[in-house]
Amino acid sequence: MTIAVKKRIVESEKYALKCPNPMTPEYITLHNTANDASAANEISYMTGNSESTSYHFAVDDKEVIQGIPLNRNAWHSGDGTNGTGNRKSIAVEICYSKSGGARYRAAETLAIKFVAQLLKERGWGIDRVRKHQDWNGKYCPHRILSEGRWDEVKAAIEKELKALGGGKTSSSKTSPAKKKTTGSSSKKTSYALPSGIYKVTSPMRKGDDVRRIQNALAALYFYPDKGAKNFGIDGAYGAKTANAVKRFQSMYGLTADGIYGPKTKAKIEALLK
Ligand SMILES: [Zn+2]
Repeated sequence: MTIAVKKRIVESEKYALKCPNPMTPEYITLHNTANDASAANEISYMTGNSESTSYHFAVDDKEVIQGIPLNRNAWHSGDGTNGTGNRKSIAVEICYSKSGGARYRAAETLAIKFVAQLLKERGWGIDRVRKHQDWNGKYCPHRILSEGRWDEVKAAIEKELKALGGGKTSSSKTSPAKKKTTGSSSKKTSYALPSGIYKVTSPMRKGDDVRRIQNALAALYFYPDKGAKNFGIDGAYGAKTANAVKRFQSMYGLTADGIYGPKTKAKIEALLK
């Protein structure tokens, strides 16, 4: 049975912010929302706010909702303005991943069927499916990864795809998977994170060391300021950088005080490896 998609497409006035570039998709990228909101709430928040972060679909235990047209790019992969994830992939967010449980598992099951349907519609194989982590190293989809089930989820998508009569590996014409692998290994740039304590001070602490912290946060998708040009990477440890640090800390179980110190440094380094 075909899964219906409810369309709640962002208004065209916001294309420049949310989906500025035409796109011919080549991949599907899976995410976990790291939140406990429904698909309807995720999409209305995403399309309504003034940050650039965007994605094509949110899936919960009941429905699939689309917020960005499939012929336009979305900002979800953290791999930069010209990254393959951001520019060539359809983003699918699976809801309720923060707390998990039956509601999450039902959302994941629907997402698996939906991704299979997208593959079938395009004549694609399972080789087109990526996890957010593949693009920039971010620990996402966090619940699938922490439960060690990525291979299981992919196998489940493939099984659904076969049931739909699809499942052949995509034509080699557009599978630059090799290129992408080298891209992600070159992503292992050393950020040379500074030691010491960084927090909001007056006047603001500024310098290349702060810039390196900001770049590392951006690489992990915790942009200091998603709405700003260059994601707010300005080399100044102000409120926006502290907020990015805070979001990072709360995501990874650290004391969320917005102060960069040895524990935050160690966690960022571990994730960037
Ligand atoms: Zn993600």
